[in-house]
Amino acid sequence: MGYYTYIIAAVVVMIWSFAVQANLKSKVSKGSKIRASSGITANQVVQQMLRDHEIYGITIEHKPGQMTDCYSPKEGKIYLSDTTYGQDTISAIAIAAHECGHAIQDKENMPLYEFRQLLAPAASIASKAGPWIVIIGVLLSAYASRSNSDIGYAISTIGIVVYFVAFLFYLVMLPVERNASSRAYKDMKTSGWVSDDQLSLAHKVLRAAGDTYAVALASSAVTLLRLIAIRGGKRR
Ligand SMILES: [Zn+2]
Repeated sequence: MGYYTYIIAAVVVMIWSFAVQANLKSKVSKGSKIRASSGITANQVVQQMLRDHEIYGITIEHKPGQMTDCYSPKEGKIYLSDTTYGQDTISAIAIAAHECGHAIQDKENMPLYEFRQLLAPAASIASKAGPWIVIIGVLLSAYASRSNSDIGYAISTIGIVVYFVAFLFYLVMLPVERNASSRAYKDMKTSGWVSDDQLSLAHKVLRAAGDTYAVALASSAVTLLRLIAIRGGKRR
């Protein structure tokens, strides 16, 4: 990938990222102003959804902050943020149902979910370490003798492989997140927690949240291609 192609790709992803963030903010805030027609709270949604899917032993806890909602399989907990915990808004219910979607994926041993869990710790290290390893290899190639130049190239290649683990994580994350949202939507549709109008807003909230993972994947792809370009060809 040429330098200008990279700049264009990076700028496009950046603009897209801003648009996705703005859309998410707007959808979540819209959904936070409307209370579910049934009056059910996010906590009750979690309890009911888990029971319906015969999942037991998971507790709900408040995690202070914004967008801190998550399912922790290790702790057997579903954490709900300030705007979700105990709230009866459309956004709160959609987000709580999405987290239950992850608990169901876990219970069903969904292969992609398990793969994501496996990759998660390595991916966080790989995304930071990969680029540095590539740079060390490139510096070695540029300033060392001919024989060390081959070593530099090999080191850079290792850096690319390391970063690929992070890319793979984002690649797996996107369908896992979309799947958790479609499970949430399915249950919201059949449960009667919200009215039909509210259901379409809930769908938009879930969709907007899912788009952030598409941006993360695109951004990671651009970085991966850039690292390959930085490494360049073997010195002759
Ligand atoms: Zn999720």
